[in-house]
Amino acid sequence: DVALQPGPAAPELKAGDGSAIGLHANINDPREIAVIDRGAIDGIGLMRTEFLLSSSAAVADEEKQASLYRLILEWAGEKPVVIRMLDLGGDKQVQGVGGVSGENFMGLRGVRLLLARPELARVQARALLRANVTGNLRVLLPMVALASEVDEIRRIFKLERTYLARRGLTVAMPPIGIMVEVPATALMIDSFHNADFFSFGTNDLAQFLMAAARDNPTVSALHAEAEPAVLRLVRYVMRIARAMGKPVSICGDMAGEPASLPGLLSAGLRNFSVAPSQVGAVRAALAQQTAEHTGQAGG
Ligand code: PEP
Ligand code: MG
Repeated sequence: DVALQPGPAAPELKAGDGSAIGLHANINDPREIAVIDRGAIDGIGLMRTEFLLSSSAAVADEEKQASLYRLILEWAGEKPVVIRMLDLGGDKQVQGVGGVSGENFMGLRGVRLLLARPELARVQARALLRANVTGNLRVLLPMVALASEVDEIRRIFKLERTYLARRGLTVAMPPIGIMVEVPATALMIDSFHNADFFSFGTNDLAQFLMAAARDNPTVSALHAEAEPAVLRLVRYVMRIARAMGKPVSICGDMAGEPASLPGLLSAGLRNFSVAPSQVGAVRAALAQQTAEHTGQAGG
């Protein structure tokens, strides 16, 4: 595949209060950049890394990971790229860790699994540190429930940085942020001073708020009713995050639904990250919002 030539930069999006809106893309595989027009987005708001788990349930090694991360960072140039550490254990099994099925994503998963199997975290931390010499990298932690989990991951990054520096490699520490996808994390957001930024994962937040599994068709109607509860929590977090001076974004599927955008904007969100296929529709909906608020014709 040949990557699309970057088109002209898309016109700036603004909320009713005049503040700038950022529109970013979520990717699940580095190959997706081949179908993204870099000029149409402000960056990669979520790069999931579960693709690193092969069919044999083994995770790609440090070299392989570092070269894939570099590829994305070079493509993005000065635009931010948020790479999320492995969110394995929910629906993706890893060698030697069993007993996760039927737990509705509430078991040994995400950052919990990274800390229970620290070699996974160490290899990924080294690859991220090594890739962080070009571009604008930010690291995101999945399924965080406690501030101590962020401290423990930071400790791993610091140890690996020292180790790599001793090997003579150039490395730099990236900002480290958290997914806000566990209800307790949202309610206790003021305890997360140790995170550099927050990103709402509404897919998980919705399922935990409604106690309705996101992959269970018998309760999908309940899951679909989560929005008012999610919005209340978003509003609450936004108020506190503003006082803490922390940047906040949203990368859950709700950001890709044009009908949900007015509520998210009114809750204070200004940074949206959506699937590549949703970028056009979300841009159009945000431009429409802008036009309505500012009284301009068209959009
Ligand atoms: C989410 O939970 O909303 C999210 C973006 O992460 P994932 O869908 O990978 O769990
Ligand atoms: Mg999630």
